[in-house]
Amino acid sequence: MAARIPLTPDQSAFVASRVQRFHLEAPRAWQWQVPYVARFGALPLYLGWTETLALQPEGRVVRWSTEQAYEGLKLVDEPIELAIALVCAAQQHSILRDLVPSRPHEAAECHVCAGVGHVAQQPELICECGGLGWRPGSVEALGLVAE
Ligand SMILES: [Zn+2]
Repeated sequence: MAARIPLTPDQSAFVASRVQRFHLEAPRAWQWQVPYVARFGALPLYLGWTETLALQPEGRVVRWSTEQAYEGLKLVDEPIELAIALVCAAQQHSILRDLVPSRPHEAAECHVCAGVGHVAQQPELICECGGLGWRPGSVEALGLVAE
């Protein structure tokens, strides 16, 4: 099952604009993503070792391989990877800050990071909870629309 982030019209327009201007605005370290952004129409949020997680203006989180492991786009539907996308979006773009869901009372605090979202000795690494500080059991727990 796929999931969609319920972006407001303003947030959606913001993402569309960042995609369109990515080749001008992207930090130098992300410039190599320009051809992918042009091809897939999505804003990179997280550069993994072999894949990029990115957000489309209509709220879908997608991934592409930067190692030719597969062709084209895949939809991201795994809660932890969706959490990474939400946390990165909020950190990088203030207009997307409210996308990070607060912890539902039934969700336990992440025992690896004690709720802070990153590993104490390596703050640049995202915790295995996706950076939320708690473990999302479903896309609905993340405030996303399942479709
Ligand atoms: Zn954690």
